[in-house]
Amino acid sequence: MRVVLLGPPGAGKGTQASRLVVVVGVPHVSTGDMVREEIKAQTELGEAIKEYSDKGVLIPDEIIIRLLAKRLRKSDCQKGFILDGFPRTIQQAEALDGISKIDLAINLDVPDEIIIQRLSNRLTCRKCGAIYNRLTMKPRRTNICDKCDGELYQREDDKPEVIQKRLNVYRKNTEPLVEYYRRRSLLKDVHCDDLMTPPEVTFERIKSITESARKEKEHT
Ligand SMILES: [Zn+2]
Repeated sequence: MRVVLLGPPGAGKGTQASRLVVVVGVPHVSTGDMVREEIKAQTELGEAIKEYSDKGVLIPDEIIIRLLAKRLRKSDCQKGFILDGFPRTIQQAEALDGISKIDLAINLDVPDEIIIQRLSNRLTCRKCGAIYNRLTMKPRRTNICDKCDGELYQREDDKPEVIQKRLNVYRKNTEPLVEYYRRRSLLKDVHCDDLMTPPEVTFERIKSITESARKEKEHT
């Protein structure tokens, strides 16, 4: 199964992708992780990427696509993959079509207000990085980490005005992909319009969508 996960920042794509990996038995391919690994490995490409990110400019599509093509050729991807963080634009989706066939695109459809409420209530531990939420996953003591007694704080990019900016970028550049995959009859929506819906419930939906798509694929 070759799966693409779509959804706004804060929709929980990473978390859901790692759960789906266990069910489908294919690797989770995150372009963010790939970039970090390539920099760490200090390859020629890694050095080039580091230059862009040091300057604070966007890494060109061409580089990301080269990395991705290399990753998807590895033996663990022969049965498929779960792609998270890519594609982010129509041009990237077209480039991906040139590298690999896609069997299913899952759209985590979460309204802006839910994302803002969720992320703006997120607290991070300064010491160990553990994540809490003032609404859905409260620490036992106010602003103190349950695990290490460290201080909990709000990350700069979890502030409402920053979240809104990231959401605007998503709605403008990435959301058109929903229609792109819908037109190819590859898209399935998973609506999450209740803040208190636990991620396990959302995952059950994702799992059943993926399993039916897999059965359909085996019959064709
Ligand atoms: Zn901690």
